[in-house]
Amino acid sequence: MDTETIEHTDIVVIGAGFSGMYAIWRLRGDHGIVCFEAGDGVGGTWYWNRYPGARVDIQSVEYSYGFDEDLQQEWHWPEHFSAQPDLERYANHVADRFGLREAIRFSNPVQAMRFDAETNRWHVHTAKGDHVVCRYVIAATGALFVPNTPPWPGRETFRGDIYHTAQWPREGVDFTGKRVGFIGTGSTGIQATPLIAEQAAHLTVFQRTPAFVMPSGNTVLDPAFEQDWKANYAPRRQQLLETFGVSMIEYPALSVHQCTPEQRKEILEKAWASKSAFQMQVAFTDVMTDMAANTVVSEFVCSKIRETVHDPVTAELLCPKTYPIGGKRLCIGNGYFEMYNRDNVSLVDVKTDPIVAFTATGLRTTAADYALDAIVTATGFDAMTGSLNRIDITGLNQRKLADKWADGPTTYLSAMVAGFPNLFMIHGPMGPGAQAQMITSGEWQVNWTARVIADMEQSGFSRIDTTETAERWWAAEVDMAADTTVHKLADSWYNAKNIAGKKGGFMIYVGGFPRYTALCDRAITDWYRGFIRS
Ligand code: NAP
Repeated sequence: MDTETIEHTDIVVIGAGFSGMYAIWRLRGDHGIVCFEAGDGVGGTWYWNRYPGARVDIQSVEYSYGFDEDLQQEWHWPEHFSAQPDLERYANHVADRFGLREAIRFSNPVQAMRFDAETNRWHVHTAKGDHVVCRYVIAATGALFVPNTPPWPGRETFRGDIYHTAQWPREGVDFTGKRVGFIGTGSTGIQATPLIAEQAAHLTVFQRTPAFVMPSGNTVLDPAFEQDWKANYAPRRQQLLETFGVSMIEYPALSVHQCTPEQRKEILEKAWASKSAFQMQVAFTDVMTDMAANTVVSEFVCSKIRETVHDPVTAELLCPKTYPIGGKRLCIGNGYFEMYNRDNVSLVDVKTDPIVAFTATGLRTTAADYALDAIVTATGFDAMTGSLNRIDITGLNQRKLADKWADGPTTYLSAMVAGFPNLFMIHGPMGPGAQAQMITSGEWQVNWTARVIADMEQSGFSRIDTTETAERWWAAEVDMAADTTVHKLADSWYNAKNIAGKKGGFMIYVGGFPRYTALCDRAITDWYRGFIRS
């Protein structure tokens, strides 16, 4: 006999990261809400990524919630760029202050979801056996959640410990006296390695592609700066939404070709010292659109690397030469290049000599064996599609989302997928995430979703879907935006090329947040263009 208890609610939110928590707060007034969270705490990205050095690289006065004036006035960020413990503390504070935990079921990931076309309800099933029937699902599942673990053989034979930075032990790891191998030099690797180098007996960094890394210049938060933001928070939050990347950076007036060599140097030095990696991307009007301009900026960064790193062979290996600056996401580091001047740090180029296996005593590349006591993988994520693809999602006509996305994701406005009605995504594939400050842009997307749901209810509709025509239109818009930039010239998680065999086109909308929001708003005001409501 089936003894399963079936619960009914209005909305299921998947994920208690920053967007999921805001979705609970924003929608709970008029709706029953249940939120399922895989972890045993709130914070999403900032719950999982607790590796040494984990720190946001957007200034915290921006990278924070704007929905509650008292919260933003009362909260104090100790540093300009907050470290993971402060971000997790903030997430917990918000959860407690606004009573969000009541709606959240922790350590209980969603495993399967099925849309019942007769009743227009989703049936949501979780790891702990919950079965919740709801009208809408909001997937706030995170663009970077499922760790990428390259399938090197021999993992089980290694006698030491292997870590992934996105699944870091809560109690931390003591590398004192150990020979540590570190794989990956993206945003995560460049943050973690300098701190591990301070502890380890020896750190060997295995680099496949060097990164463009700007110095962070992180400081304690200047009280006058904080006061200025607090006095102007409401207009600043609005201004953020009107900027390309939902972040206050200075937009340039000049093309590189309009500048003398002295002017170029002056502008680039200012961008380098600006505390924002993204300033480098917009140092001139044409950095992201013209390879000649891009090369000027890339060479400037390489000159900084050569000035910093004493060993010329190591310095050359650290200089990115195969892709344009800004093509992959830029990184902000704290003493990353300086680290290579330490006696206990060495760099191995695994582009020319790839890693082939774990061994009992370390790592094997095609040319050598490396003796190690611990291995850290900072090898990134099955980004954008990974979180949803690992839930067994069945839409209309028994179609599985993973099958529909087998050759890459399709979405309309990154918010919905045709054939999967009443399922909304926040920071979904083909959205502006990663090129837009995630907390503020997430709040905007949740507000847009809340507006769509409120309209459904006022108009007496019970199903909203999008169409394949609308998905094709959005794919063309996403491609057109990317085609005008240098992004496509780099292999990264933006275009699914970070994982061997993963399929998919360009997965980030790089047309700017104001254009994105205008298109989302226009879809609503044009009588739900691209949607079908019934
Ligand atoms: P990532 O940018 O995808 O970097 C992964 C690294 O692992 C790359 O260096 C990659 O080399 C390497 N790698 C992957 N597979 C490999 C293999 N088979 N052999 C050797 N090397 C391999 O991942 P991430 O550093 O975790 O960052 C992901 C994103 O998270 C960032 O782009 C950013 O959006 C976000 N993030 C932000 C912050 C922050 O705000 N401060 C911090 C961390 C992360 P290739 O480059 O050759 O693929």
